[in-house]
Amino acid sequence: MKIDKAYCNELKESITPYLARELYFDEESEYYGQKLNFSCDSNECSVELVGVNIYNEKKPKKALHYRTKKNLKHSSECDYFLKNSGASQTEVNKKRKEEGFKITRYPSEFLLNRPKTSNRSSGNVKIEEYEEEIEPFVRNIAGSSGSSSKESVLKTSSLENMVDCYLHGDFDILNNQNLTIGNKTKKFMHFFKKIKYYQDEIGLIYWGNVKEIKKYGKNYRIVFKDRPTVDNISYSVSIYIENELIEKYRKRKLFRSQIDSIIDTQEEVLCFFVGTYPQFIEVEKNKEKFKVLGVTIDNLDHIAFTFGV
Ligand SMILES: [Zn+2]
Repeated sequence: MKIDKAYCNELKESITPYLARELYFDEESEYYGQKLNFSCDSNECSVELVGVNIYNEKKPKKALHYRTKKNLKHSSECDYFLKNSGASQTEVNKKRKEEGFKITRYPSEFLLNRPKTSNRSSGNVKIEEYEEEIEPFVRNIAGSSGSSSKESVLKTSSLENMVDCYLHGDFDILNNQNLTIGNKTKKFMHFFKKIKYYQDEIGLIYWGNVKEIKKYGKNYRIVFKDRPTVDNISYSVSIYIENELIEKYRKRKLFRSQIDSIIDTQEEVLCFFVGTYPQFIEVEKNKEKFKVLGVTIDNLDHIAFTFGV
């Protein structure tokens, strides 16, 4: 069985695979480089789970999740086991169900600024994703089984979490559930915009295929394949990333490794970014001046890649 939340033995809390990934790659985290131990978070069960895709530097296009360790089974009293044995499982959006894994938790807000905590050890979980209890009528989709009178909402600063929901989530939920980013709230699905059509709206999550990465010393330029058309002229669009920004990033090794992988890879790579918007900049080449579209990123939490198909 594949699920998207697990009890972490070390943290003594239930966490998403995105937080497990964050802790593993955050060089300032006390769990940096440490593969944590997970078990089912149902009260009636404590079967051991393992993370799938969590520790891959090259984040695959597939969604992160947990699965039951080989040859082990959930207790027959386990909530997940009971949910999965019902009829409801067969009727969900089959074409988007990935090898038996179904996303069940969709963030209601992407936090552009990762909340800070002064208490590093116990606050680690809460700053990455936190859940608040809300009345169920505020969010009545996603098939609440309704035993408690309140439901929780998930807020996250993981762009990869947003991307996985977009690429693999249930269409009905994506089209109906609200998502908030900054001062904008709209349906989850409508927050994602191909870079080619960036002019449609400001303040969204833009994405496209990476054409190439150009290296300028220790700085990089990520060039998109698609060229947006402005006033009947098509323009190259790219993101320029300075070494200085990478150096002060808490996941600098991961970021560099991803960038270097893209330079070498023949695989399809998608790049997503948020919190910024393409702007025209004038560049000079061979004494000729021309305009290109540039994206300025000042927070590397606002960019995410997926590798492969
Ligand atoms: Zn279980």
